[in-house]
Amino acid sequence: MGIQLVWLKRDLRLDDHRALAKAARQGPVVGLFVFEEGLLRHPDTDASHIQFVLDSLVELRAKWEARGGLLLVRTGSAVEHLERLHRQLGFADLWSHQETGNRWTFDRDLRVARWCRERGVTWREPWQHGVVRRLRTRDGWASQWSQRMSLPTAPEVEGLQPLGGSLPEPGRIPTLAELQVLATPRVGAQPGGETAGQALLDSFLHQRSVNSRADMASPLTAWEGCSRLSTHIAFGTVSLRRIAQRTQERIEELREDARVGGAVPATWLPSLASFQSRLSWHCHFMQRLEDAPDMEEHELNPAYAGMVEGHEDRTLLEAFARGETGYPMVDASMRCLRATGWINFRMRAMLVSFGTHHLAQRWQDIGRILAPLFLDYEPGIHWSQVQMQAAVVGINTIRIYSPEKQARDQDPEGLFIRRWVPELAPVPTEFLPAPHQAPPLLLASLGVDLDALYPRPVVDPRAAVRAARERLSTVRARVNTRDHARRVFQKHGSRRAARGRARR
Ligand SMILES: Cc1cc2nc3c(=O)[nH]c(=O)nc-3n(C[C@H](O)[C@H](O)[C@H](O)COP(=O)(O)OP(=O)(O)OC[C@H]3O[C@@H](n4cnc5c(N)ncnc54)[C@H](O)[C@@H]3O)c2cc1C
Repeated sequence: MGIQLVWLKRDLRLDDHRALAKAARQGPVVGLFVFEEGLLRHPDTDASHIQFVLDSLVELRAKWEARGGLLLVRTGSAVEHLERLHRQLGFADLWSHQETGNRWTFDRDLRVARWCRERGVTWREPWQHGVVRRLRTRDGWASQWSQRMSLPTAPEVEGLQPLGGSLPEPGRIPTLAELQVLATPRVGAQPGGETAGQALLDSFLHQRSVNSRADMASPLTAWEGCSRLSTHIAFGTVSLRRIAQRTQERIEELREDARVGGAVPATWLPSLASFQSRLSWHCHFMQRLEDAPDMEEHELNPAYAGMVEGHEDRTLLEAFARGETGYPMVDASMRCLRATGWINFRMRAMLVSFGTHHLAQRWQDIGRILAPLFLDYEPGIHWSQVQMQAAVVGINTIRIYSPEKQARDQDPEGLFIRRWVPELAPVPTEFLPAPHQAPPLLLASLGVDLDALYPRPVVDPRAAVRAARERLSTVRARVNTRDHARRVFQKHGSRRAARGRARR
């Protein structure tokens, strides 16, 4: 068989790599990664995403070359490089994982498919996790997911068959500066690479997951208590199936420890079970984008289209983006996210709820501010969650988060707020969640001039929540809303117990 070109996208690993393993069985493999101009300059892309890819590529290329293989790195357009390599290598098969990406990658894949047809190249795209292409019905989806996750993992390719003849130059891995990507320094942003991902998985399964079900709610404990694997899953440095299988093995190990009288904390197995179900949520939400590629722009449920049309307020959006809304828990979460690239699920949900309900801004605008900030940005999860928290899907329990309550519940001592909104440090803990409610005399006695330190709330919370509820009930009262919701559930709804649906 001729040369097999393996085009790497969000699958920067060797372990459990289905496309690579299948290609290597067919013939000599050449790997290709392209830094695509269109993606580098896309508004969803941040320098930290590129840095993660760069870290991952350095490790991957070393491993690839240690196996006698050739991994090409290029900058430009995928089609342009495929064309050049086709002339040089004359490959007949192109391999890549099935990608469920944003509109840009969707359109680029259409261009690549057209190019393949014109050149007589066969493009083979094996699945990489639980998302099913051309899914006809959601019925049975969950068991299909479990079945895929329990299939044997792809064998690691030990030797990448050496090639003869004249070979293309490998191409240097560029720097951020060479890619003309401006970097904002981030605190503790995760490094990329397969080794870093596997280390996170180990430390989570063997130590950090003990109490993770409880730890995940607060931004203070979630940093360590959540797996923090999302970025590795998003860029494919660790396979979701590998994570699912290692988790199952760990559960069995702990069960065995308990059976022989070992001291297994009571929270551990439930925490791992809850982690297992979150792994399936990953694909459940990505499946929505796979089935509705226009959901970055359009509501899954058309009954909610244009619910806040005409409300675009640049001042509010900028205050939200900078973390200067006068709501300390919102501002602390936003500033933490900007600085580190990560915040826990609860605070992400609160940010979207606040932006769309309190501030009455379009979910598309709020989602676009957040997308480049998440180091783990995964379009299918992101847009599904943004729509869900904005309550425009119409099949979930609606939750309008109170930032003040979240601060009291998740940061009772004010540690998180004081860390990320340091100007509030002198405010007594009791008043940190809503500092402008503190008695002026008390603040004066402490020498705190609050108005000089921190903005007043950009909207009145009670009036804002009342208005949001009215907007939502107006839509729900329309005659066709229920029919739309039924159709959305049929196409996109989880068939699992309502308990899970309500929480997420
Ligand atoms: C508005 C909003 C936007 C989000 N955007 C993203 C995103 O771009 N990328 C992303 O990976 N997650 C996203 N999430 C889901 C969730 O917040 C993150 O997956 C989680 O915080 C990542 O941390 P972790 O890896 O420690 O997760 P853990 O809690 O350890 O979970 C393990 C894995 O399960 C998956 N997962 C966990 N929670 C969810 C969920 N609610 N929905 C779907 N998959 C889940 C992720 O792959 C995660 O890595 C978003 C949530 C909200 C509310």
